[in-house]
Amino acid sequence: MRLTGGNYIAGLVSSEGKSTFTSINPLNASKLPTDFHEATIEEVHKAAIKAHEAFAIYSKKSGNKKADFLDAIADEILNLGDALIERCCAETGLPAGRITGERGRTMGQLKMFATVLREGSWVDARIDHAIPDREPLPKVDMRSMQKPLGAVGVFGASNFPLAFSVAGGDTASALASGCTIVVKGHPSHPGTCEMIAIAINKAIETCNMPKGVFSLVQGQSVEVGMAIVNHPLIKAIGFTGSFKGGKAIFDAANKRPEPIPVYAEMGSTNPVFILPNALKQNGNDIAQGLTNSVTLGVGQFCTSPGLVFLQNSEILSGFKYTVSQHFEQVEANTMLNSGIKKAFDKGIDFLNSKREVNLLAKGKVNNEGYKGTSYIFETSAKNFIKENYLEEEIFGPSTISITADSKEELLASAHKLKGHLTATLFATEEDLENYTDLIQILEQKVGRLIINNYPTGVEVCHSMVHGGPFPSTSNSRSTSVGTGAITRFTRPFCYQNFPNHLLPNELKNENPLHIFRIIDGEITK
Ligand code: NAP
Repeated sequence: MRLTGGNYIAGLVSSEGKSTFTSINPLNASKLPTDFHEATIEEVHKAAIKAHEAFAIYSKKSGNKKADFLDAIADEILNLGDALIERCCAETGLPAGRITGERGRTMGQLKMFATVLREGSWVDARIDHAIPDREPLPKVDMRSMQKPLGAVGVFGASNFPLAFSVAGGDTASALASGCTIVVKGHPSHPGTCEMIAIAINKAIETCNMPKGVFSLVQGQSVEVGMAIVNHPLIKAIGFTGSFKGGKAIFDAANKRPEPIPVYAEMGSTNPVFILPNALKQNGNDIAQGLTNSVTLGVGQFCTSPGLVFLQNSEILSGFKYTVSQHFEQVEANTMLNSGIKKAFDKGIDFLNSKREVNLLAKGKVNNEGYKGTSYIFETSAKNFIKENYLEEEIFGPSTISITADSKEELLASAHKLKGHLTATLFATEEDLENYTDLIQILEQKVGRLIINNYPTGVEVCHSMVHGGPFPSTSNSRSTSVGTGAITRFTRPFCYQNFPNHLLPNELKNENPLHIFRIIDGEITK
């Protein structure tokens, strides 16, 4: 497939910007073919206007029509065939097996939202019938449901070039809600972004959707992204990426004359607690499993476990020795780009420079391309409680083992934690009974609490919560993975005293869509 290197604005390729950039193959630091045009502010403006205009048409399409569109996008992504897998591997250094799996997940997300739209009850329809003879005042007819917000800006992350990118979770949930989108492509994989844009545009043609429903603008500078955030016709932002980027976008959105909601999914260090009996009974298995989880995908997952809390005991040194042996066997593997590799090395150098932090073990070293070595450090819970830097995400294959001298110190460490996406407990039944207080603390700190599993690997399903208190996200009241993500891009809307024929189908008396609704306080079809 020949790439144009242009931006895709409401179906048209546009290359007005003079400034160009290329993507780099992280396996050998070589430039990949195609120069990509940095979008101009005018191009972003056009995309926002087209998205705004298309919203008036797209938001009125039925659930079935929107579902067909999402299915068609999934099918067109598959139709890109091996060319997509090849370009994506070349731009990320990720193996073909991983990218093929991620393509399946991306298609699965789109199709899952299509199913939700066909069923239709997600709109949370509520009807309160009028009671004209109610005393002392009559009650009027009130009906409410979720309605889409408008044009949404979407930012994807480098570490999920398909599932959290141009047609990723934010795009799928925004389109499912009835919103139109302007996507800022990630400069680390612009060719992959362009291919996905081509697939979405084919689906737009097939399904006869308004062209402005989707635009892709490419860019390496923060100006392109900020032009989306500050555009008055953009009504919400979905962001996946670093804390620095997400917080900058959140702050900018709040400074607008009309502030807009920002759903920024940012970094997290995902604390793991290995409780005393679990350590005694399953220490060897946990040592292996933890090593695998920390180093999976070269540690480039937002759910990678970066903090491991343990209580001191006579068997602790044996556990640390076993984990260290596993870490020493880990091969150095290619990281996503030079920026991520540099930031990782800088974080490791910083930890190495700290007197209160010891290096327990490191994996194999290989200086070809952008290969990252795995590390495990250790420090005390006293240090963790005193120092804030120990909780910062170091994006890559590293973790810190933190030893508490008592249960009280372990609980104090848990109290000190900021917001994270996940926390994990390795525990026996007895541990769980003895540490109910720890569970209570952690419920306040994370979006997903895990028992005897690893946090890496995020199931896309209806009950998944991929979110958490600040700073893991800018809004803890939602999830970015799973079908719950749809209501990030909607608002409740109420019709008072409307005649039946003017109501949307979701709220008509005869329930033509056969959806679940709350009628006078009772759930019914
Ligand atoms: P990133 O550098 O923050 O980039 C994400 C996107 O935001 C890019 O398009 C980037 O464009 C843009 N951006 C960054 N700073 C910006 C700013 N100040 N103004 C406007 N746009 C800005 O993130 P990444 O390095 O690709 O991804 C790795 C991070 O994502 C890790 O921290 C990881 O934990 C996190 N992550 C979180 C989740 C989650 O669900 N919570 C999932 C995956 C990854 P430019 O590069 O052009 O600025």
